[in-house]
Amino acid sequence: MKVEQRFGPGHRILVTGGAGFVPSHLVDSLIGRGCTVVVLDNFVTGAKENIAHLLDIPTFTLVEADVSDGLPAHPALAERFDAILHMASPASPTDFEKLPVEILRVGSVATLHLLERATVDGARFLLASTSEAYGDPKEHPQRETYWGNVNPVGIRSVYDEAKRFSEAATMAYRRSRGVDTAIVRIFNTYGPRMRPDDGRAIPTFVSQALRGEPITVHGTGDQTRSICYVADLVRGILLLLDSTESGPVNCGTEHEMSMRELAETIISLCESKSEVTYVTRAADDPEMRRPDLTLARAALGYEPAVTPEVGLQRTIEHFRGRMG
Ligand code: NAD
Ligand code: UDP
Repeated sequence: MKVEQRFGPGHRILVTGGAGFVPSHLVDSLIGRGCTVVVLDNFVTGAKENIAHLLDIPTFTLVEADVSDGLPAHPALAERFDAILHMASPASPTDFEKLPVEILRVGSVATLHLLERATVDGARFLLASTSEAYGDPKEHPQRETYWGNVNPVGIRSVYDEAKRFSEAATMAYRRSRGVDTAIVRIFNTYGPRMRPDDGRAIPTFVSQALRGEPITVHGTGDQTRSICYVADLVRGILLLLDSTESGPVNCGTEHEMSMRELAETIISLCESKSEVTYVTRAADDPEMRRPDLTLARAALGYEPAVTPEVGLQRTIEHFRGRMG
């Protein structure tokens, strides 16, 4: 399936969370296409630095606000949007403990505010959902038809259940209000602009390896993830945005590896003397995760291209550059 570009010059796109890691790369691509982009961000986990290079571009506007409070009165938000991309949410497991209510709100009331706006504007609405919708999956690899295995009162539930609520809300507005919606289920993505201290495995391991500190693998390190370089994910999200597909559609790669293997690969690519240390693993940490990409391939023509070695090397260089 070949997806034609649908959004380009003259189109107005709202990106919530646009100063974050993944969304800022998406914003770069949309600006590169000639779209007019409004980013709404409260910088709870994002960084001005991620969008600093865009601030003087006439087709870019930053609105600093909490999207969970609804859309503020601002000239850049007054005109109709052609597409609304709801990317805002803290996403690291360490945030689940630090920002539980904020995560619940941005994955519920914020989603409703944005769906209302998409209804009024007749905009395409794209929701950044997650592989966490599958919880600790009993089906492997995970197909979009799998309903998941989520602990509704566990430590991760604020994130998992909020994203599941957002998916339900998105489908409700599609069915009952006719909104043109799309849901992408994003699998573990990494790359430049991740916060070195955000607690996720790749930035943590890279920072530790570059400093020659012990690499903190949780548990035995046998648990797996399938890692995706951010450029591949952004291409997948843009294909979904341009298509008429509603999803949910998985987006990521089939590069599944254990966390021990990931730690060893990073040590080797950094040419580090760090050793692996095994520390306590958090409750409900999923045992394995790999997307079934059949739908993404068939409906969008999506194909990830960056190998873990190449993507990790680029990420390491980015982190190294920032460490001075
Ligand atoms: P990130 O924390 O770097 O980006 C999130 C952005 O949202 C930040 O700039 C943050 O300040 C902003 N934000 C959060 N709450 C907000 C609010 N109430 N109002 C305004 N702005 C707010 O995280 P990321 O990894 O880039 O994730 C981006 C999106 O992709 C999230 O929705 C996340 O759930 C989803 N996702 C990411 C991954 C991944 O591997 N990176 C995996 C699955 C899903
Ligand atoms: N992990 C780890 N050491 C760390 C951080 C994470 O071993 O310092 C493990 C974590 O327990 C999980 C995997 O790496 O099994 C991926 O964690 P991450 O936070 O990157 O993403 P998740 O898939 O849990 O959202």
